[in-house]
Amino acid sequence: MQSNAASAAMNTREACVAADANDPLASFRAKFLLPEGELYFDGNSLGARPIGASERALDVVEREWGTDLIRSWNTNHWFDLPIRIGEKIGALIGGGTGSTVATDTTSINIFKSLAAALRIQEEDAPGRRVILSERDNFPTDLYMIQGLAELLDRGYELRLIDDSLSLDEAIDDDVSVVLLSHVNYRTGALWPMAEVTAKAHANGALIIWDLCHSVGAVPVTLAEANADFAVGCTYKYLNGGPGSPAFIWVAEKHQDRFQQPLSGWWGHSNPFAMSPEYAPADGIRKFLCGTQPITSLAVSEIGIDIALEVDQDELRAKSLAMTELFIALVEQRLSDHPLTLITPREQELRGSHVSLRHPEGYAVMQALIAHGVIGDYREPEVLRFGITPLYLGYADVWDAVEVLRKVLDEKLWDTPEFQRRGAVT
Ligand SMILES: *Cc1c(COP(=O)(O)O)cnc(C)c1O
Repeated sequence: MQSNAASAAMNTREACVAADANDPLASFRAKFLLPEGELYFDGNSLGARPIGASERALDVVEREWGTDLIRSWNTNHWFDLPIRIGEKIGALIGGGTGSTVATDTTSINIFKSLAAALRIQEEDAPGRRVILSERDNFPTDLYMIQGLAELLDRGYELRLIDDSLSLDEAIDDDVSVVLLSHVNYRTGALWPMAEVTAKAHANGALIIWDLCHSVGAVPVTLAEANADFAVGCTYKYLNGGPGSPAFIWVAEKHQDRFQQPLSGWWGHSNPFAMSPEYAPADGIRKFLCGTQPITSLAVSEIGIDIALEVDQDELRAKSLAMTELFIALVEQRLSDHPLTLITPREQELRGSHVSLRHPEGYAVMQALIAHGVIGDYREPEVLRFGITPLYLGYADVWDAVEVLRKVLDEKLWDTPEFQRRGAVT
């Protein structure tokens, strides 16, 4: 409500500048390096670099690696790094203590949590053969389900929620595990976590939440929602750096029964005993597999520490006010262009990005980038604008929409150069 009122009042650039001056999160911007003369609306794909990240990178490379060498596993606490950072992420996602580690990629953590969940269900609810997700989920989530189902070779099938099959229709007592993204990567739609988790449990299923587009962007309360497992990445709204390690969270109630399908030595109870037999560590260390990417982990902690300083309610209020403003400005000022909003209008169903369809979406985004507004493009025809409340303000939203207006009004996208596609879009 508050954010509706805020954006309704921001119908001039001056009003946006005034709102920025009153922004309780304004001081966070100085903690990030932002490109001169550009507006960065792609923090939902790769978060901006915290200023402190390069100092940390230099320290870990020059001193910890360069000088201290192998001793650093103990003296610079490399061995405990995935646990220490996991604790911090656990605090951010309402996961409690001793339940989260920073490790591997989201894809690999999906594999681990899904394998463990299916195994628990084999005992508690034998015979269930459906893994439920949604057609519009991030592809790697679906690919990992497909690969694991094939590997297990026990008749697991993937069922997908889509326009013709709602969650309520799809969930029944054949469903073993539900895997959903809390915030949809393409549309920005947000599932009500507690409600959906309760629905899964009422149907005898376990649920894994993918938090890639919610951690650091919308408040997450895993334990309160009674969730079972969660995974997510740190290079989007947590600003951990390109390819920084992901995380896995396992509810306390499942930790004893969590069987690590990737039984590498870092999950062993005593890795340096060099025993020929795998014996899982107690607690969350068993979620690890092999040697961790220490430089990348160390750098990610800078962005995560910044996220921990943020009041989650203030973050949510600003995120909603900004997405609301973006949508309102597009509707007011760009109504004569073929843009379709695919992000939910209802605030409680929205994450922290705004997606618009345009028939020439790809070229429009390339032209926008060339004119200093960096968003990204997702198939089909989707222009995606990540709203990162820590380093963007209301005037930035105003300016980005004005550049979009110019690109569309003047058809700046309509040149062969903006039709060419790179490997990463
Ligand atoms: C970004 C993203 C991923 C990325 O997975 P990686 O294994 O880290 O490449 C997975 N799932 C969702 C929903 C994402 O948005």
